[in-house]
Amino acid sequence: MSTRAERLATLLPDAGVDALLVTNLVNVRYLTGFSGSNGMVLVGRDLRAFATDFRYVEQAAAEVDPSFDRLRASQDLLDAIAEALPGGELRLGFEAADVSVHDHGRLRERLPERVGLAGTHGLIEQLRAVKSAGELAAIRAASELADAAFTELISGRFVGRTERELAMALEFGMRRLGAESASFEPIVAGGPHAALPHAQPRDVELAAGELVVIDWGAQLDGYCSDCTRTVAAGRAGDRGQEIYQLVLEAQRHGVEAVRAGAPGREVDAVAREMIEAAGHGEQFGHGLGHGVGLEVHEAPRLSQRSESVLDAGNVVTVEPGVYLPGELGVRIEDLVVVTAGGCEILTSLTKDLVTVA
Ligand code: ZN
Ligand code: ZN
Repeated sequence: MSTRAERLATLLPDAGVDALLVTNLVNVRYLTGFSGSNGMVLVGRDLRAFATDFRYVEQAAAEVDPSFDRLRASQDLLDAIAEALPGGELRLGFEAADVSVHDHGRLRERLPERVGLAGTHGLIEQLRAVKSAGELAAIRAASELADAAFTELISGRFVGRTERELAMALEFGMRRLGAESASFEPIVAGGPHAALPHAQPRDVELAAGELVVIDWGAQLDGYCSDCTRTVAAGRAGDRGQEIYQLVLEAQRHGVEAVRAGAPGREVDAVAREMIEAAGHGEQFGHGLGHGVGLEVHEAPRLSQRSESVLDAGNVVTVEPGVYLPGELGVRIEDLVVVTAGGCEILTSLTKDLVTVA
């Protein structure tokens, strides 16, 4: 873990700062191992410091990487941070996406005047995008667990059960199999409701012949999985089967386009062009995929506006969808690891259209 801070330190000169104040708790966890809800980190060339409050002293002793100096616990972490800063003029970076206008005002007020503040963007997120072997093992385990919970779910009935009931059963299944939590609230959406890409499960019973979009993930050892399958509750109609085959073809081509060196924009285009050619481009209104790790949505992005270029060790989703308002929705999502020559699919579930009674 200490190598993560070392790699971060090498990025600081180009970012124009002498040291970085890390306040984003996911990034704090990535650098130090600390999983509590209040902590800050300072990283500079020879500076590794961690601050938390009284509640987390013991947890920090157990979790925080020993290369970090653990600062004395204080109610206002900025007091401890101010004391740990090196003397003289200092350009201190902060995480612009994490620091509110209010927080920035407090930083200016609590830190000495000799400290200049500069917003930085995505420095740690860029490191997090490339997973280590240990991180890949955690994501693989989360994905396997989520797959097992889904296999259990589709062994039962769908027709006549509510979306909410199924979403809760899926979440409970993951918890029972050892997940810390769901990586987000599962989506279960049937029939016309599935045309909402981020539908909330309703107290509405599924009817025979509906396509049901199920999007879920497990969190294990801090790492997330993410997967979507669309299943038929009872036999699906011709229209549903036709859209399903289109999304499946686009998904397969998208997966085939994933490899180290591929721009996220190009991988998105491969799947999008197939859906456009079938006349449904307007009904695929989101990006093709996103990175997954400590957070369920992180770098890199596969989308029309992505600036990302894929790297070996990225973990990304490939999830095209077609949404016909008032009618139906289909999305198919796999989680994959980017390799030099292509990718490895972590999701083990079939992508053939499964019919559940
Ligand atoms: Zn998903
Ligand atoms: Zn996703």
